[in-house]
Amino acid sequence: MNPNFLQTPIDYLKGVGPNRADLLRKELGIHTFQDLLNLFPHRYIDRTQYYKISQLQPNSSDVQIIGKITDLHEVTQKRGKRLVATFEDDTGTMELVWFRGHKWIRDGLKLETPYVIFGKTNLFNRKYNMPHPEMELLEDHKQNLRSAMQAVYPSTEKLSNRGVTNRVIAKIMQQLFRETKGKFAETLSNDLINDLKLITKSEALFNIHFPKNQQLLAKAQFRLKFEELFYIQLQLILKNLIHKSKIKGFPFKTVGSLFNTFYKKHLPFELTNAQKRVIKEIRQDLGSNAQMNRLLQGDVGSGKTIVALMSMLIGLDNGFQACLMAPTEILSVQHYNSLVDYCKQLNISIKLLTGSTKTLERREIHESLENGDLNILIGTHALLEEKVKFKNLGLAIIDEQHRFGVAQRSKLWKKNTSPPHILVMTATPIPRTLAMSVYGDLDISIIDELPAGRKPIKTVHRYDNNRLKVFRFMRDEIAKGRQIYIVYPLIQESETMDYKDLMDGYASIEREFPKPDYQISIVHGRMKSADKDYEMQRFAKGETQIMVATTVIEVGVDISNATVMIIESAERFGLSQLHQLRGRVGRGAEQSYCILMTSHKLSNDSKIRLETMVNTNDGFEIAEVDLKLRGPGDLMGTQQSGVLNLKIANIVKDKDILAQARYHAKKILSSDPKLEQSEHKVLSETYRQMGKYKNIWNYIS
Ligand code: ADP
Ligand code: MG
Repeated sequence: MNPNFLQTPIDYLKGVGPNRADLLRKELGIHTFQDLLNLFPHRYIDRTQYYKISQLQPNSSDVQIIGKITDLHEVTQKRGKRLVATFEDDTGTMELVWFRGHKWIRDGLKLETPYVIFGKTNLFNRKYNMPHPEMELLEDHKQNLRSAMQAVYPSTEKLSNRGVTNRVIAKIMQQLFRETKGKFAETLSNDLINDLKLITKSEALFNIHFPKNQQLLAKAQFRLKFEELFYIQLQLILKNLIHKSKIKGFPFKTVGSLFNTFYKKHLPFELTNAQKRVIKEIRQDLGSNAQMNRLLQGDVGSGKTIVALMSMLIGLDNGFQACLMAPTEILSVQHYNSLVDYCKQLNISIKLLTGSTKTLERREIHESLENGDLNILIGTHALLEEKVKFKNLGLAIIDEQHRFGVAQRSKLWKKNTSPPHILVMTATPIPRTLAMSVYGDLDISIIDELPAGRKPIKTVHRYDNNRLKVFRFMRDEIAKGRQIYIVYPLIQESETMDYKDLMDGYASIEREFPKPDYQISIVHGRMKSADKDYEMQRFAKGETQIMVATTVIEVGVDISNATVMIIESAERFGLSQLHQLRGRVGRGAEQSYCILMTSHKLSNDSKIRLETMVNTNDGFEIAEVDLKLRGPGDLMGTQQSGVLNLKIANIVKDKDILAQARYHAKKILSSDPKLEQSEHKVLSETYRQMGKYKNIWNYIS
């Protein structure tokens, strides 16, 4: 068959026509035969069984019954009309009910003619009824391409209201198989098929739509999931290889005196093994001829900053400048403060550039950047401004990457003849499987170990009516000289209700902890950034004991004397956010606590989130739970939504298949990076076709 046949617009399939074609395009994104073929069922029903009306049970699942309609009439109710049919077999009668689409149903139904009906039954007034049944004439039913299992396709309300039911979709699918004779070009190499004992493409497609039995369905699913994940991995790894061969970085050949001096003389603690390993990985990248593009993942408090500094020192040792960019002013200031002393010891110049840097200083920074006097620049988005020009930027580090888009990242590149090495740091633990499929084009380093001597944070869940006890606990901690965060949900800084909660909360804390014994800070998104900074500084210096805040303090803030994190309305936060917030404490030697306050009204998901927080401090474990609760889309934000376009695989449920796909993609590319060998021809051809039609993975970018 001509492979282009599958690119035929869906309008040309017999039984589709312009109206249905339009619906299929708009509702399901089906434009071509190929798209239809790749509309995979999301479940299957066993239609080998037929029920008698007398056998029906209340609340049965979907059942299939043979019988005929003896009467059809409309019933008018207060809330509109419904269409009711009396349906009978040799054991009894029941009703079929429609609430919508009366006209086309009425016109299409035949009285006194045997039908096979299918659907859920309800018991109402001691009579069974089936709302909106799937119906098929017994005669057609017998003739149709029969299979034991029946596919249920994704649908939309509009489709079913306009008569494009599951049966209609199944029918046009059958038509497609008739026209193609069910023969489809193979898209995986013989080696893969043999190694993994896969069924052929044609067999897989047939059995995914019309499974002959459970075993073949399972094989079809495996084959198609594997294929989908395999080509994504192939693409990600290929992109990475091309990137590495094309984009020459600045090789940092030496690890020189700055790095060594710092390591031997100034490092204030022993590095953890994980930190050592990660620095080694970074050093290897920096020393190679290719540009580094690495993601550094490490839970809150795992010590990423020192890794960033030591990486920058390697850059400086090789005569380059380095920069570190953070998403907020507060974070940039904190980075600057934690690095400035080390830099003094090493005689390195370091500056901070943010939105609130004064014009005069700004000008000085611009100048010293361009003439090369300035070694390290820390800052916010301000670093991306047109006027900021480095003399020779060798390494750019981006902290908390999920707040910077890829486009912004590449802005930094434009400032150089050759792109600097890039290190992206994130404390959002991303499960390895997800990281693999989303960030496949980045190399990943993981700090999976906290510095020794860190006491795990004790986390408890308290209901709002236990607040007095919580106040008592706060007083005790403050008496010991510790500081406390109280965080309110202000998901949208503009939400007036949330703002009121925060202010009410603040007022009650003020009453409970009166001046002059207690000093309280407050920070929220409606404040000017100078005022926010002022309050943060007061708290950081220990002038205030309690910090009432919104999630603006979420990321990175490091005040080691703060040992209590109280999260109000904790049920309203997502898991990763709760974990980030908790990470604000537990940074010093003292025992730290996290108290999750909630009302008694909790959804199941909230309960799971709270339990997870109480049970573990491990960010990766938490991320796995989060992924299960929310699915990958929410977790990653819309930016990486490519992962959502999976047609059949599910990266949470199919992580074993993903690992196999990755393994094989790597193996093949390592022996044949350009897919030139004859046995790989089918792979390169399929890959090329996918890019051309973008019909499976729209996110091939
Ligand atoms: P994060 O990964 O969250 O950015 P930081 O780099 O801010 O973590 O480190 C958290 C704290 O742990 C800092 O006070 C830092 O000085 C300290 N720290 C980092 N590495 C070590 C280590 N190997 N031993 C002891 N303390 C460390
Ligand atoms: Mg940090």
